[in-house]
Amino acid sequence: MTPEKINTLVIGGGQAGIATSAHLARAGVPHLVLERARIAERWRSERWDSLVANGPAWHDRFPAMAFDGIDPDAFAGKDRVADYFEAFAARINAPVRCGVEVTALHRTASGFRAETSNGVIETDQVVVATGPFQKPLIPAIVPAQPGLMQLHSSGYKNPGQLPDGAVLVVGAGSSGAQIAEELQRAGRQVYLSVGPHDRPPRRYRGQDFVWWLGKLGKWDARAKEPGTEHVTIAVSGAYGGQTMDFRRLAAQGVVLLGRANGFADGAVTVNADLGHNIAQGDANYLSVLDEADAYATAHGLTLPEDLDARVFAPLPECVTQPVLSLDLAAHGVTSIIWATGFALDYSWIKVDAFDAQGRPVHDEGVSQVPGLYFVGLPWLSCRGSAFIWGAWRDAERLAAHIAARVPANA
Ligand SMILES: Cc1cc2nc3c(=O)[nH]c(=O)nc-3n(C[C@H](O)[C@H](O)[C@H](O)COP(=O)(O)OP(=O)(O)OC[C@H]3O[C@@H](n4cnc5c(N)ncnc54)[C@H](O)[C@@H]3O)c2cc1C
Repeated sequence: MTPEKINTLVIGGGQAGIATSAHLARAGVPHLVLERARIAERWRSERWDSLVANGPAWHDRFPAMAFDGIDPDAFAGKDRVADYFEAFAARINAPVRCGVEVTALHRTASGFRAETSNGVIETDQVVVATGPFQKPLIPAIVPAQPGLMQLHSSGYKNPGQLPDGAVLVVGAGSSGAQIAEELQRAGRQVYLSVGPHDRPPRRYRGQDFVWWLGKLGKWDARAKEPGTEHVTIAVSGAYGGQTMDFRRLAAQGVVLLGRANGFADGAVTVNADLGHNIAQGDANYLSVLDEADAYATAHGLTLPEDLDARVFAPLPECVTQPVLSLDLAAHGVTSIIWATGFALDYSWIKVDAFDAQGRPVHDEGVSQVPGLYFVGLPWLSCRGSAFIWGAWRDAERLAAHIAARVPANA
């Protein structure tokens, strides 16, 4: 069969792929988006039922289209977010082919050959938009055993999915902290293993933290500050949007633990780092308040004071006298949720474009292989890159780069 030919192939129909399609169309670049499932599939099927966007609707969106029928300050539910991308793709008439997976990508003399679940496609340019969160990562800490369900946060849906009993949630970034709170509110005894984290205030002086990060120029930061590479961020739009406050969770009944490090004699062992991790999170929180105050003063902003934001409840006993070993059976733990992040998986790309750790080598999404691009990855060009509007901005720049390679009569 003669292979199909297309000037530019976009692989992945999530927010990054749809944004890329919008900008390629504007630039007049003929292209096709291949999506193995449905548009924004991960928002539909790889997130828990109650998830809402981490940012308010005025912020977590493409600049080209507002959310319909939702208060701009509210947090859109995950299906609403997926619907939004579908509606946007329909509005721009994006050439998306759903249900087609790219199983291998090869370089050819003139461009690339994509092997797909529905035939071969030859193309001059490829934009890889398969997402920053491809392969769930579960550290090999607790061996599989009867009576203990273990799942990754990407497989968690709701409390009813878990067997009766207490739950250990490992990881207290946005996913772990939110899932822990949901389970606690559903009446479960929850143990939450808390590693190094940032926890910005949800709102300060009447403004959401995403607004402050914009004012402070933080979304445009080009790299994480040295030493913070492994620090996760705990934010939440749940319950109308609240600051992720581990003291509050503890007061509600969640038992906080340090970072999980091993398993012995039926017990999960944890580092003696809980107090330090909580203190670092507090310091991060206070630093945002300080920077916001300094900005408000320097720019003469008339914003209400928010002195209560600096008042912390006393540290709970689980922090001052931390447990270093959690015997699962003795504490009735019947499930563990690993909110421990994701890895990239580009094993299907048979092109020399990766470093020894399998990460794409690129300059703001332009790979070292002419015609091969990546979009949607954290810190692709700046802190905002993995977020909805950040992927939009990166896609715009990459589309311009591609358009410059495309002959006028393509
Ligand atoms: C729990 C969670 C909550 C988040 N909340 C927010 C938030 O509130 N606001 C925000 O801005 N960001 C949020 N993010 C970050 C980010 O916006 C999402 O991860 C988003 O889904 C990334 O979009 P993407 O298009 O880059 O990748 P994805 O959404 O992962 O899309 C990639 C698409 O590619 C498809 N695909 C993969 N491989 C192939 C292949 N070989 N062939 C064809 N198709 C393929 C997949 O099916 C998928 O649809 C969140 C992330 C997580 C994990």
